[in-house]
Amino acid sequence: MDKVSEIFGSMVFNDSVMLERLPESTYKILKTAIKEGKGIDSSIADTVASAMKDWAIEKGATHYTHWFQPLTGITAEKHDSFISPTDDGHIIMEFSGKELIKGEPDASSFPSGGLRATFEARGYTAWDPSSYAFIKDDTLCIPTAFCSYSGEALDQKTPLLRSMDAINKQALRIVKLFGMNDVKRVNTTVGPEQEYFLVDKAAYDKRPDLIYCGRTLIGAMPPKGQEMDDHYFGVLKPRIAAFMRELDTELWKLGVLAKTEHNEVAPAQHELAPIYTTTNIAADHNQLTMEIMKKTALRHGLVCLLHEKPFDGVNGSGKHNNWSLSTDTGVNFLSPGKHPGDNQLFLLTLAAVIKAVDEHQDLLRISVATAGNDHRLGANEAPPAIISMFLGDDLAELLYYVENGMHHDGAKKIKMKLGADIIPLFGKDNTDRNRTSPFAFTGNKFEFRMLGSASSISDTNVMLNTMVADVFSEFADRLEKADDFDNELHSIIKDTISKHKRIIFNGDGYSDEWKAEAKKRGLLNLESTVDALPLLKTEKNIAMFEKHGVLSRAEINSRVDIVLENYSKILHIEALTLIEMMNREVIPAISEYTNRLCTGLINKRSLGIKFDDLADTEIIARLSAAGTEIYKLTGDLKMTVMSAEKIPDMLERATKYHDEVLRLMNDIRKYSDSAEAVVSKDCWPYPNYGELLFSI
Ligand code: ADP
Ligand code: MG
Repeated sequence: MDKVSEIFGSMVFNDSVMLERLPESTYKILKTAIKEGKGIDSSIADTVASAMKDWAIEKGATHYTHWFQPLTGITAEKHDSFISPTDDGHIIMEFSGKELIKGEPDASSFPSGGLRATFEARGYTAWDPSSYAFIKDDTLCIPTAFCSYSGEALDQKTPLLRSMDAINKQALRIVKLFGMNDVKRVNTTVGPEQEYFLVDKAAYDKRPDLIYCGRTLIGAMPPKGQEMDDHYFGVLKPRIAAFMRELDTELWKLGVLAKTEHNEVAPAQHELAPIYTTTNIAADHNQLTMEIMKKTALRHGLVCLLHEKPFDGVNGSGKHNNWSLSTDTGVNFLSPGKHPGDNQLFLLTLAAVIKAVDEHQDLLRISVATAGNDHRLGANEAPPAIISMFLGDDLAELLYYVENGMHHDGAKKIKMKLGADIIPLFGKDNTDRNRTSPFAFTGNKFEFRMLGSASSISDTNVMLNTMVADVFSEFADRLEKADDFDNELHSIIKDTISKHKRIIFNGDGYSDEWKAEAKKRGLLNLESTVDALPLLKTEKNIAMFEKHGVLSRAEINSRVDIVLENYSKILHIEALTLIEMMNREVIPAISEYTNRLCTGLINKRSLGIKFDDLADTEIIARLSAAGTEIYKLTGDLKMTVMSAEKIPDMLERATKYHDEVLRLMNDIRKYSDSAEAVVSKDCWPYPNYGELLFSI
């Protein structure tokens, strides 16, 4: 393998390539624009485009694409080649500034939630210079935002960039109040840890549910699940290790800071954690990571499952969104430092996040609401659907002091001693881990753990950035007007903590006691996507998003419709897949095996010998009953899906899918799984859970 330092970023038009290939004046303009998040003078576009093209061609690229993130949740690209004809019948390779800045994909098939009439197919992609261009599959990919003809956001990136600007604007007011006048930009940073499953491609190919839905719709539990916890951080199997090595290399080429790879709790489950970076880039990189994971897996005879709950009975996959904010001068707002009790910027930010999370529990829940993630949240593994915050004992104690007007310098860091002298002493972390909390303080950042593994991280960060920006703006209003700054600062922190401390919970988030307690505290418990989504449209939320210029009323309405429509579509596909699996394979398998048993019984009985046939007769009875129930329920499911499809209102339709279709699917599954447990292996049409989870 080449040296990692040479591979890293080799396919990225990054700062060092720009420095080398752009005229100094162009480089300076571009660099300042990127650093300070300012707009770019289009006059430099031709120069940048031409340098990008030359670089890309030297790397073997023949095409370019505006790479964007429509609301389908995945990335989209339309490839154009660089070729341009000359008068003498030859071609030259061309790429203009205009082509760099703006693209015009036919947008009619991307979801717009009514923002764009179908006859008005025009949509624009616009260059995002803050995320570097890169080469993938011999194509120069230019990260772009995607909007409608009239400028409404049709993608994930646009609101994310807007929310980053919003929090920058408010956070700058705060740092100015603290006398940090050299700060030009405040950026939020994110490190998204990505969980995924790997299954054998040959087994995958035999499962229509995995192929069409990304998750198993049926499957009896194998004798062994995850109860031994022997997979977590276990030694990597050679095939998995080879996959991970190649994945890291491919990601490094694209400048993705892939750092940690390990096995997760469930069998066949793994995790990749990158080093954190600016949110916008983290979001792009996470999309790339998911894409490269899938592609790389195929080269190893594996399939990468990004679905939130591919298998019942073992943990699903999430994405941990580690979030913080820092100044361009390197100050992390959430870094407590040696004396957190005296670190006013830290305390104010902590108070702001506590208030934001308490006041906008709905938004955080909405940002992770998908059909797939609904299977995970509130089950006994992922965080519950109730939003709460974990601060750890030390910080909780510190807040108690602050709230009660006492001073605490928080400096009593405890040294850990492991009992073996050879191991050096190390400082204990500020917080222990609480895996059950959806929103945990982890030393110098918050970790939001409710995100689903398949989703873009954009929505969550749009919410976080805007919520905290909103609280910052309120704090800044008060502080800017204050006669006695210190006094006002203390009372803001103190009042905020006592008013919003109900959101803090340091105990077991999976327990039933917590559900009851949360209810008493008045916290929201939005169990499903259909419960959560309508709340995005409340006047309170619309007012906040409009105030900070992140989403307009029309954009919010369209997003609600898109998410709900998407929810219904997913359940529609799942239901049809299940119906087909039942009718064409499971019911026939059940009757074939029943027949076999019956024929055997007849044969045995024809011998005229008296023998015990209890096993045969009971299995025959059980299978006949299961077959009948499956047949009836499948018919019901079909009718229910047909009537759901006729409902024009998106919320009503999604609700029907949630209340009726899902329930029927679960009932069918129960009968199918009980049949699977007794049907001979050679008769069952699909690889079982054991083969899927333990075969690599
Ligand atoms: P933990 O042990 O608490 O999980 P790690 O150091 O392993 O913490 O970090 C987990 C993730 O959090 C990594 O992706 C890391 O880059 C990211 N992270 C660390 N610091 C920050 C920060 N200031 N802002 C955002 N993400 C961060
Ligand atoms: Mg983590």
